[in-house]
Amino acid sequence: MRDVFHTSPQESAVGAGVVVIHCSDPRYQPHFQDFLANSLALDSYALIAVPGGVHFLIEGDSAPRFSWVGWSWVQFLRDVASAERVILIGHDDCRWYLQRRFALDPAHLAVRIEEDLRRVRTDLNQRFPQMHVELYFARLAADRAVIQLLS
Ligand SMILES: [Zn+2]
Repeated sequence: MRDVFHTSPQESAVGAGVVVIHCSDPRYQPHFQDFLANSLALDSYALIAVPGGVHFLIEGDSAPRFSWVGWSWVQFLRDVASAERVILIGHDDCRWYLQRRFALDPAHLAVRIEEDLRRVRTDLNQRFPQMHVELYFARLAADRAVIQLLS
């Protein structure tokens, strides 16, 4: 094998202290990265980016093994990142939810996703009471995303 690229030097991200979970929709990736780096000032974090974001942790909606794997990933990343903080980001117009018909009415999609974010926060608080959970919701507006903190 031959080297094809050498990255720029980076500080070690061992024990980043933060786990981030968001959707992997490509429209939102640069906005999520911008938000995490420039609003929350996170240099490094453990990331789970999958279609639908936190939806994979909702038990009952998906196959039991799906959420079992999801919670295993969360526990694994919590341990390897020594995480005391979890950041959950949902977004508007999530095509995973729409395609899977988890929100039958697109007008109620944001409400449904916000409910799922709060439900996962409750589950996280029960499973890992020492972890602090933050919820955010993103909407595209032209070439930007507007990100709100959810209570
Ligand atoms: Zn999505």
